Amino acid sequence: MKTIYLDNNATTQVAPEVLEAMLPYFHEFYGNPSSMHAFGGQVARRLREARAQVAALIGASPEELIFTSCGTESDNTAIRSALTAYPFKRHIVTSRVEHPAIHALVACLAKEGYRLTELPVDGQGRLNMEQYARSLTPDTAIVSLMWANNETGVIFPVEEAAALAQARGILFHTDAVQAVGKIPIDMRHNLIDLLSISGHKLHGPKGIGALYVRQGTKFSPFLIGGHQEKGRRAGTENTPSIIGFGKACELAARNLEKENTTVKFLRDKLENALLARIPLSQVNGDRLNRLPNTSNISFAYVEGEAILLMLNEFGICASSGSACTSGSLQPSHVLRAMGVPFTMAHGSIRFSLSVYNTEAEIDFVIDKLPPIIARLRVLSPYWQPGAEAGGAF
Ligand code: PLP
Repeated sequence: MKTIYLDNNATTQVAPEVLEAMLPYFHEFYGNPSSMHAFGGQVARRLREARAQVAALIGASPEELIFTSCGTESDNTAIRSALTAYPFKRHIVTSRVEHPAIHALVACLAKEGYRLTELPVDGQGRLNMEQYARSLTPDTAIVSLMWANNETGVIFPVEEAAALAQARGILFHTDAVQAVGKIPIDMRHNLIDLLSISGHKLHGPKGIGALYVRQGTKFSPFLIGGHQEKGRRAGTENTPSIIGFGKACELAARNLEKENTTVKFLRDKLENALLARIPLSQVNGDRLNRLPNTSNISFAYVEGEAILLMLNEFGICASSGSACTSGSLQPSHVLRAMGVPFTMAHGSIRFSLSVYNTEAEIDFVIDKLPPIIARLRVLSPYWQPGAEAGGAF
């Protein structure tokens, strides 16, 4: 059975060009880039190229990037660094819809005694910027707001938010794990101090990420040890993955237009067809200000997990809630923060596309999903025939 992969916000296929670029660095050019000999030196040269490729995708200079093991490490490093750099400041500002890499971290920090403001969002997942501005205090050490939400794709106005923080002398971090490679980002035109990226969300390998640290930003390393990454992140470099990550960023820069035309067209086709064919369905999140590849749709009176299982029988891969929480039956914290009613939040499915999806795949899903929802609704104790007309909603 062919797999139709619509779960690209969870992880992506490694691009064939990326794999090809990585392979020689496992067995042929396996030297340590820190070694004095030429065998290691050639790897160091290749790492410099990869750093430049990642930097180019976001308009950064290569020295502003630190390679990490993943987006989670980048997020943790950014927050911990700010708190170490400004030890007298004890307040953190973030939002209620962050990924667990921030959400769970700040919950731990609150237990350690930091004061936390988790900004609410409205029904479409948007921040209130006036409320945000009011949350900033002289005691605020760092603001961390995601660029784009992994579940709904909703984009936060992080550049505007960073300017407000900067005016008050507060560090600004953004978790841009879902945004990089999908929407244009140019660090020369904003005031963001710290930005997290992850390789496996943009057709690079898993287990590699980067933290952008604007030149001049006070920084304190998370991993202490050797002198790698100019003393900012100890540990022998994951050379094949860094090289693959660099290649993935080069490809992402080339594919950015396709993301915003072809991928967006397919996402819209899928979304509009499902809304038209399935009564009592709704899109979650601001439809006008979203990643081009993401659609989060709720189908009333059905369990998201049941939908996933039935889609799985046709080889269709999607997600309910976020990938990291899909093992639990709790409705997603993002949809709850948006006030999505329980019956709707439970039946939510996230479709996330990539440049590798085809129109034929989308047509197949449009064909298969409506009968699945109809079958599940008949089995639901809450479903009343005639609810399609809107009466029981
Ligand atoms: N931040 C966001 C918004 C994400 O979507 C993810 C992964 O799902 C992460 C952080 C964590 O990235 P990684 O899996 O590389 O640790």
